[in-house]
Amino acid sequence: MKRRHFIKNAALSGAGLAIGNSLIGCNDKPSEEKKTESTMMTTINNSPIAICTWAFTGANAKAGEELSKGVKALDAAISGVEVEEENLKNTTVGKGGAPDREGNVTLDACVMDSDGDCGSVLCVENITNVAALAKLVMTETPHVILAAEGAEEFAYAQGFKKDNLLTEDSKKAWQEWLKSPEYKPLINIENHDTIGMLCMDKDGDIAGACTTSGLSYKMKGRVGDSPIIGSGLFIDNEIGGAVATGMGEEVLKTVGSFLIVELMRNGMSPQKACEEAVNRITSKNDRYKDFQIAYIAMNKAGETGSYCIHKGFTYMKYQDGKNENVHSDYFDKA
Ligand code: ASP
Repeated sequence: MKRRHFIKNAALSGAGLAIGNSLIGCNDKPSEEKKTESTMMTTINNSPIAICTWAFTGANAKAGEELSKGVKALDAAISGVEVEEENLKNTTVGKGGAPDREGNVTLDACVMDSDGDCGSVLCVENITNVAALAKLVMTETPHVILAAEGAEEFAYAQGFKKDNLLTEDSKKAWQEWLKSPEYKPLINIENHDTIGMLCMDKDGDIAGACTTSGLSYKMKGRVGDSPIIGSGLFIDNEIGGAVATGMGEEVLKTVGSFLIVELMRNGMSPQKACEEAVNRITSKNDRYKDFQIAYIAMNKAGETGSYCIHKGFTYMKYQDGKNENVHSDYFDKA
């Protein structure tokens, strides 16, 4: 039996009839009813959807507009995240991103398409649009990941321009940090704000992109979750997708985005799956008190969800011409 038919039949035997395309707001308590609803992996509304981490309004609007014009999910997601890669005021993504301890800006990105193909670049200097570069790794090489100088050389061979990613402002901030160079992740402060984006296009296909300069003033060579398929981003076009932001080391340890997609495969709503992925981290020990992690997810029915550790995380949702900022529910209510 083909996998798609198996999922459909399992859903039919377990869940009854088709459902409405309800948004699961991040403050909604996921109910058993919603849980069984999301096992129906059918796209029932062909209105495109874009969601992205944090209040990256312009980036999400761009992706939504592209989707509305009929652009496919992956290209829409890349156009969306490029808005932030090129935003010099954004100190956590692309050009203008905070450097590592030695003053070098190194970028990480990955993309995953609806056919399951993916590409990734790690620790790349001098290239602004690293999500687009990750797509070219996917389409133009036999590999999934290119790192550091290899990725940079590949970029030039593909026609990318060399760019100085360290702006005057980010250089000044780094020099200030050097005066008392203590590394301490700050919750919800802009030392970690990756843009991860999931798009569903007019055909109901889901794809995503994730791009970041990583933790500010990180150790030289440090790579987080964002360019690692399964951790920072994962898509299964029969089920849905998920992306992460926050303390990458902890997302890596629990392979967070893959976990969320697998939980949705087993019947959880996007909301419930994000909650469970956060619980996997917070249940291990108390260290979560010092860092933020947030997940957003979307399933094939167009339902979305989000959950994070600490109050303060929001995400964007574009649908039917509306681009809204949604406040995420959170774990640490103490
Ligand atoms: N997840 C990113 C990293 O660890 C940072 C972030 O999203 O804030 O590199």
